[in-house]
Amino acid sequence: MTPPLVLHKDISFNDRASKAIGAPLTRSTLTTLQVNLGKRCNMACLHCHVEAGPKRTEEMSVEHIDDILELLSLSPQISTLDVTGGAPELHPHFKRLVSGARDLGRRVIDRCNLSILLEPGQEDLAHFLAEQRVEVVASLPCYLEANVERQRGKGSFSKSVEGLLILNALGYGLPESGLILNLVYNPTGPSLPPPQPALEEAYHQQLKTRFGIEFNYLFTITNMPIKRFQTQLQHNGELERYQALLIDHFNSATLEGLMCRELLSVSWDGRLYDCDFNQMLELPLGAAPQNLSALLELARSQSLQHIEGAKIHTASHCFGCTAGAGSSCGGALS
Ligand code: SF4
Ligand code: SF4
Repeated sequence: MTPPLVLHKDISFNDRASKAIGAPLTRSTLTTLQVNLGKRCNMACLHCHVEAGPKRTEEMSVEHIDDILELLSLSPQISTLDVTGGAPELHPHFKRLVSGARDLGRRVIDRCNLSILLEPGQEDLAHFLAEQRVEVVASLPCYLEANVERQRGKGSFSKSVEGLLILNALGYGLPESGLILNLVYNPTGPSLPPPQPALEEAYHQQLKTRFGIEFNYLFTITNMPIKRFQTQLQHNGELERYQALLIDHFNSATLEGLMCRELLSVSWDGRLYDCDFNQMLELPLGAAPQNLSALLELARSQSLQHIEGAKIHTASHCFGCTAGAGSSCGGALS
């Protein structure tokens, strides 16, 4: 079992953040619901903070899927549904959730591992995503095969390339199509991501020249020293050095854009968290409501403005979001 994360005990993220902005971190208007549909995945990547894999069985109930659709129908302020997992597409009600949210006029993001597009039974997935005009955010930790395979397993790079070509063939990532295809880079080891704009340029150039692949934007994301990646760092004797690196590169300019300010993370069992990382660490939401049913009750009876200004549950791992240019589900922050 992975021991709890202990960063330098004398350095509190909350103190650092409060000092920089003159008050503790609090929530702003809720605009994004990030829903984790479960832990089942066709892959088992080394850096996976969800510890997802083919043998995991946890998945969201049908009742919770219905609750999410009702919540969206009652809450126009939630403009984005961000669907993640595991491989969210493996959930039997993935399509119903996506098309329901699209019918309600919401922007929908699918966090897709690309290889899922090639899995048996998923032959129509790419068409479905294009038809529903879902934004695809796809992990591709490098444009070099060896680096991707070290992190995601043998054969993963060619599957990613194939998946991207399938999406391109439907118009994804092409100028004028309006079908958004964004890629996600994360370092393959214990270092901070390089500057996002320069790396995006290199990705465009390499992927276009070598495979004819197009995409919209590249998001650079910092690896969180939690779960599987933490175990790997510990195994290699690199955990302390990596933790110190994150703390030493604390950048107060990232605080304003932290994703926990506008996003709520919903776990497969309906519990609520300030972000996906807190969900994996089981750090409950800084303020009531604590689960989907209570949130829906709030939306039915009054308004979600109730949770604005609520304190965010921070801990040492938060230094992973504020190091260097910062990190979020939408990439660098400053
Ligand atoms: S594809 Fe994503 S969810 Fe699946 S194991 Fe890899 S990092 Fe985890
Ligand atoms: S880990 Fe979560 S709670 Fe902490 S700063 Fe990042 S987004 Fe916010």
